[in-house]
Amino acid sequence: MTLHIRHLLTLVLLLAPTPATAQSDDASRLVAALLGDTPMTRDLLTLTDEIGGRPTGSPANLRAFDWALERFRGAGVEARKEPFRMPGLWLERSAKATVKGKGVAFSPGIASLPFSAGTPAAGLTAGLVDAGRGAEADFSALGTRAKGAFVLIETKELTDLEGLFREYTEAGHVERRAIAAGAAGLVYMSSRPGNTLARHNASLGLANRHPMMMMERDAAARALRLLRAGTPLTLTAVLDIRSGPAYQTHNVIGEIRGAIRPDEIVVIGAHLDSWDLGTGALDNGANSAMVIDIARQIRRLGLKPARTIRFALWNGEEQNFNGSFGYTSTHAAELDRHVMASSYDIGTGRITGFFTGGRAEMIPVVERALAPVAGLGPFTHIDIPIVGTDNYDFMMQGVPNLVANQESANYGPNYHARSDEFGRADLRQLRLNAAIAAAVTWGFATLDLALPRHSARQVDSLVRTTDLAEQMKSFNVYDAWAAGQRGLRP
Ligand SMILES: [Zn+2]
Repeated sequence: MTLHIRHLLTLVLLLAPTPATAQSDDASRLVAALLGDTPMTRDLLTLTDEIGGRPTGSPANLRAFDWALERFRGAGVEARKEPFRMPGLWLERSAKATVKGKGVAFSPGIASLPFSAGTPAAGLTAGLVDAGRGAEADFSALGTRAKGAFVLIETKELTDLEGLFREYTEAGHVERRAIAAGAAGLVYMSSRPGNTLARHNASLGLANRHPMMMMERDAAARALRLLRAGTPLTLTAVLDIRSGPAYQTHNVIGEIRGAIRPDEIVVIGAHLDSWDLGTGALDNGANSAMVIDIARQIRRLGLKPARTIRFALWNGEEQNFNGSFGYTSTHAAELDRHVMASSYDIGTGRITGFFTGGRAEMIPVVERALAPVAGLGPFTHIDIPIVGTDNYDFMMQGVPNLVANQESANYGPNYHARSDEFGRADLRQLRLNAAIAAAVTWGFATLDLALPRHSARQVDSLVRTTDLAEQMKSFNVYDAWAAGQRGLRP
């Protein structure tokens, strides 16, 4: 593997333009360092195998942030905990279920959806009914039989990123129909193969009052076959949920101060929190380890960026991006001087380019920054706004933002799933991605550029002229913007 990377390094250096300035010479040294043998892989291993899944508010989450602070400081990078407020606590202690019918009884594996309501300790028992795909017509066909029942929703198996987006978009509509029909609770057939469970947000977030769960695919298929053959079934679900009021937690921010324009800030971020069925390797331990390693290599080489670089390990991302939201509130007075904020959050598939958030003028800057890693391209940039990770509040504050676009590789099928483990990370590609991310970060921290912050009017126009509002609704962040609580409003 090391050999292969050396080979690629040669390729990168051959294809890169001859460094003409100290600036691009620094970028090439940084890229070479990240392609070498660094502690990044070891960090990912520790974070996933030792600390494990780390949902915000859990003891493992606190351990992960202490660990990150120690990793930055151990590399000589100044780092701090920055507090922010989470609007509520949600953690699953355990979840189990039993399905019964005439002569039939089995106990399928289930996982509660984030923000699911708990059940009484003895469980909640109700009829289990076939609600098809959860479409309007399915609920019409069910009629009053949905009332007071657990509605079982059949799903397509998730194979790629597109399937994941579809799942997100549909979930909100399915939930709304189920609640309108008076269902006692919602049971999704797991969209992952075999017995693999996953967590997928209940779209109402903390406002949800219904038990919602995912049932392992094979068992849900069995239940559907029985129901369709005319065997009535009941489901007893026991969801032990720890919930609580708003509380304070923190992000960890590493910082390397700019040597020439220290007041101007470039952010590179990944979220350190994860869900906990697996250990959050692809989502998003891999990119967290990458962010730490980029800081470490800049410090180790003694490189001096012109602008200040902040290395953000966000918390609360899986629960409406509350950590990065908290950062934009705490640093509101500095946002005019935030030159760019970038997010890396699609696992370890090859970085194919960047989403530039509806600011096409960023593309030439990204292209210039990518020159030292041209050999890892080609890169194609897509100028649309993206909701779904920690660029969101920067975008809604008018700050230029980038989201790395990546080949979906194995990200979709393992998303929030039991199977999101260290062994699924493509360590070789992660290293190449680190080189790409370092080049982009270094470019924005050193190149001459003018990317002024957008006004409330410009943000509003982005919402009105793109599908941004739809995306915001499916991630349950639209209302807060419309109410003027989050982001710029005219
Ligand atoms: Zn993520």
